[in-house]
Amino acid sequence: MMSSGPKCDLHCHSSVSDGVLAPRDLARRAHANGVQLWALTDHDETAGLEEAAREAAALGMRFVPGVEISVTWCGTTVHIVGLGVDGGHPQLREGLREVRAGRVRRARAMGERLAERGMPGAFEGALPYARNPELIGRTHFARFLVQAGHCADMQAVFHRYLGDDKPCHVPARWATLDQAVGWILAAGGRAVIAHPGRYRLTPVQFDALLDRFVELGGAGIEVVTGSHTPDQYRVYAELARRRGLLASCGSDFHSPDESRVDLGGLPPLPPRLTPVWHDWL
Ligand code: AMP
Ligand code: MN
Ligand code: MN
Ligand code: MN
Repeated sequence: MMSSGPKCDLHCHSSVSDGVLAPRDLARRAHANGVQLWALTDHDETAGLEEAAREAAALGMRFVPGVEISVTWCGTTVHIVGLGVDGGHPQLREGLREVRAGRVRRARAMGERLAERGMPGAFEGALPYARNPELIGRTHFARFLVQAGHCADMQAVFHRYLGDDKPCHVPARWATLDQAVGWILAAGGRAVIAHPGRYRLTPVQFDALLDRFVELGGAGIEVVTGSHTPDQYRVYAELARRRGLLASCGSDFHSPDESRVDLGGLPPLPPRLTPVWHDWL
């Protein structure tokens, strides 16, 4: 299977979750950047998919409805992307509703931890950055903390306060891997492990993740993503080949001002991989 082909970007976020652009504006930006196959994958929510699909159709760009589900695996947050999902499927919708349910309480707790470190009012400050309060998360806090002058940029916020192992992060109990893959398959989609290079799992925990993911019917991993270095493209390409997994590509674009990689800004997949979109075009 050839790895070259259409320009694809199968991972990004709109203002429905923690991106800053509306779904229709993301569609326009992707199209303007030459993307031919585009997916919107908001965190734990499918409410932006209709608008995105409509705009993509108007532009003549192929659209893949997606979602990025927060999962807890061995106490670590792992993200599972669903591609080609029916966003209205009752099992997926109900599952995502439950995943979102704990976010406000967790956000209040992060606000308290930030207050203890001399940054009061962060919960109230972060709220207006979340279009949907149900989806309030660390990115919204980071935007507030930068705007309020507590940190120079988003990276500094995660480095000092809100990164996974930093003092103001409050870990959540997200979906289980079994649930997330189950909902994606029920909704007719393909499950993909997002940015595998980002997880702080031991090799044993990571192998167990892959084993269970494949057992459950998971299909692929992201090889080329805005979160990987070129060296990691090669590492995860080799993993996909060895494990017989499909390969995906996505910028994980959140904002023109914050994201290192723009929509459509990634190189093509390395050779000798089967793209996750191989039978969609
Ligand atoms: P949450 O779902 O509230 O745990 O927030 C996770 C989100 O925070 C991710 O989807 C990213 O958008 C953002 N994020 C996590 N770590 C970093 C980081 N080191 N730098 C920038 N953004 C990050
Ligand atoms: Mn995000
Ligand atoms: Mn992610
Ligand atoms: Mn993402």
